[in-house]
Amino acid sequence: MTNQSFSARDLSVLWHPCTQMKDHETLPIIPIKKGQGVWLEDFDGNHYLDAISSWWVNLFGHANPYINAALKDQLDTLEHVIFAGFTHESAIKLAEKLVEVTPGGLNRCFFADNGSSAVEVALKMSFHYWRNLGQTQKTKFVTLENSYHGETLGALAVGNVQLYKDTYAPLLMEVITVPGPDCYYRETGESWADYSTRRFALMEQVLQANAESISAVIIEPLVQCAGNMRMYDPVYLSLLRAACDKYNVHLIVDEIAVGFGRTGTLFACEQADISPDFMCLSKGLTGGYLPLSAVLTTHQIYQAFYDDYQKLTAFLHSHSYTGNALACRAGLATLDIFQNNNVIENNKSLIKEMAELAQRFNEHTHVAEVRQTGMILAIEMVKNKRTREPYSWQERRGYKVYQYALSKGVILRPLGNVIYFMPPYIITKEELLLIAQVAWDGIDRAVRD
Ligand code: PMP
Repeated sequence: MTNQSFSARDLSVLWHPCTQMKDHETLPIIPIKKGQGVWLEDFDGNHYLDAISSWWVNLFGHANPYINAALKDQLDTLEHVIFAGFTHESAIKLAEKLVEVTPGGLNRCFFADNGSSAVEVALKMSFHYWRNLGQTQKTKFVTLENSYHGETLGALAVGNVQLYKDTYAPLLMEVITVPGPDCYYRETGESWADYSTRRFALMEQVLQANAESISAVIIEPLVQCAGNMRMYDPVYLSLLRAACDKYNVHLIVDEIAVGFGRTGTLFACEQADISPDFMCLSKGLTGGYLPLSAVLTTHQIYQAFYDDYQKLTAFLHSHSYTGNALACRAGLATLDIFQNNNVIENNKSLIKEMAELAQRFNEHTHVAEVRQTGMILAIEMVKNKRTREPYSWQERRGYKVYQYALSKGVILRPLGNVIYFMPPYIITKEELLLIAQVAWDGIDRAVRD
C-alpha cells in the first residue's frame, strides 16, 4: 500500500475536520502508517515530526510504552460500561487523581468525551445551579474577544473567533463579549502585567453593570490558543477570580488546550493561584490517546443539584461514552507519567531551549512578535514589521509555511499567519532545533514575492 492508493480511497469517502476539501486537489492528504515518539511515518516511508502534538493532545509521544501497556491491561478487563448506575475502577481512580492535582476546592468530577462537550457541561451546570437556587434571571455568559471554546453550538456561541463563528451566527445564543487582555496590543514598553491589569477594567465594568443576569464568565487561562496563540499575564486571572466572587458570578476556566503542563505548570490557573468554579479538561488528559473530557467543580455546586428526585434538580446531561474505561485508564497512565518522571520540572529545560531558539525570529523582517508561555511558542508573521500590518488572509502565507514544513518532514500547522510550536514533552533539543530551522526557512519562503 502506498500513500497514493490510500489518499484516493480517503478522498472518495471521507470528509475531514477544519478543512476545505478542495485544497486536497493540490495538497495530498497524508495517510499515516504508524507513530513512534514525536515521529509519524506515512505509507511511502516519509517521516514527520509532530511539532503540534496532533492538535495539542499528545504529551508523551505516539505509541508510548507505558500508556500502551496500561491500555492493553484495561482492554482485557473492561472496555466500557454504561456510566449511569454503574462505575469502574479506572474512572474512580482518575477522578480521585484529578481532584488531587487540580486547584483546591475542585472536588467533583463529571466526565464527558471531548472538549466541546465539557464546555457545554460547564455552561449548563452553571446556568442550572442558579436556577436550582431560584435565581432564574442569571442566564448570560461573558466571554473574551478572540476566545475559542469548541465547535458545538453552545461552545461556539461563547467563542469569538469569527472564522468559525460567523456562518452560524443565527443559530447561536447571545453572549456578552468583552475586549480581552491579549498582550500583542500592549503599548511599546508596557509590561504584560500592566496591560493585562489595564484591560481588566473593561471586564469589571461589564460585571458591575450586568451581574444580576450573568451566570458565568468563561476564559482560556493565559493563552488563547485557537485565537492565534495570543497570550496575557496571570494577573488578569487573579483579578477575574476576585471580581467573580464580588459580583456573585461563576468562573469557568477552559484548560482544555493549556492544561497538563502546556503553560509550564500542571494547570495554567496555578500561575495566578486561583481556583475556578468549573475547570474543563480534555486533550492532554489521555496523553493524546483517546477522547475524554472532565469538568471539575466544587462541593457547593454539586450540593445544589443533590435532592429528592421529585424536586427535579438533577443534572440530566449524558453522553454514551461518558467515563469510558479505556480513556480513563489512558488518563491514569498519563498522570502516572507526570508524577513518576517529574515532568513539570524536566520541561523547564525544554522551555528554556525553546526560548533560546526563538530569539533569532525576533530579527526576522516579517516577524512582529515572538511570544512564549511555557511549552507554547508562537511567531507572528506580518507584512510590515514596523506598522504590524498583517498579511491579508486570502494570501494564505501560513499555509505556505505549512506546505514547506511538510516537505521537510515537520508538521507545523499555522493559525492564519501565526506559526507555533507545541511539541510533545519527550522532544529532544536536536528535534527542537530542526523545527526552528524548518520554521525559519518556511517563513523566509512564505514572505517572498
Ligand atoms: N476549548 C479549547 C481552549 C480548545 O482549544 C478546544 C480545541 N481546540 C476546545 C475547547 C474544544 O475541544 P474539542 O476539539 O475536543 O471539542
